[in-house]
Amino acid sequence: IVFHDVDMGQIIMGNITLSRYTCPTPVQKHAIPIIKTRRDLMACAQTGSGKTAAFLLPVLSQIYTDGPGDALQASKNSGQGYGRCKQYPISLVLAPTRASQIYDEARKFAYRSHVRPCVVYGGADIGQQIRDLERGCHLLVATPGRLVDMMERGKIGLEHCNYLVLDEADRMLDMGFEPQIRRIVEQDTMPPKGIRQTMMFSILARDYIFLAVGHVGSTSENITQ
Ligand code: AMP
Repeated sequence: IVFHDVDMGQIIMGNITLSRYTCPTPVQKHAIPIIKTRRDLMACAQTGSGKTAAFLLPVLSQIYTDGPGDALQASKNSGQGYGRCKQYPISLVLAPTRASQIYDEARKFAYRSHVRPCVVYGGADIGQQIRDLERGCHLLVATPGRLVDMMERGKIGLEHCNYLVLDEADRMLDMGFEPQIRRIVEQDTMPPKGIRQTMMFSILARDYIFLAVGHVGSTSENITQ
């Protein structure tokens, strides 16, 4: 496939061209159609394989094509009664370390669209991250520890988180983030599996191995390359 084979909306397609991505990498070729058809996905891909765009492009385009109406309205409505500043991202990307790199890529692809990415990670000024969040957040890139902190401060709610990406999931476990990941994923307010789409990326295997797990009512499928 080429990027144009998948409908990602005009603005996102324009941003792909601006980024000078002409041809999808293998991980993008396989993952983008699976994610676009709203199936869960587990994929192994190394850093440098283009895996960041493999999950960002379909997720951003989904939020973009859902329209400002749906996405923004949902986060605004649910904000009522919870306090003005709380944000309800539609999509969450959890990553062990490279959060700001993922965020930079998200900004590049969301350019000129209504979709607003934000990033929170440890070791940086939390006050500034809170002020940025308060300006609105559709796609949140976060390291697990800092996200738990933000949730405890009442700044983030995951009630509308319909897309969950666990990037470098094996590395997050190696780094001891399991309690924080459980805390985030297993909370009652997170949309249930049939509604939330989950994409998990691992860096363990050298070659690409894809397992696409169908949502309720669809068939499961294994793709190996
Ligand atoms: P990643 O594996 O996501 O860290 O990406 C590695 C590098 O490849 C980054 O600098 C991306 O900007 C670049 N890249 C990702 N996908 C493509 C593509 N389809 N065409 C050209 N460059 C790409």
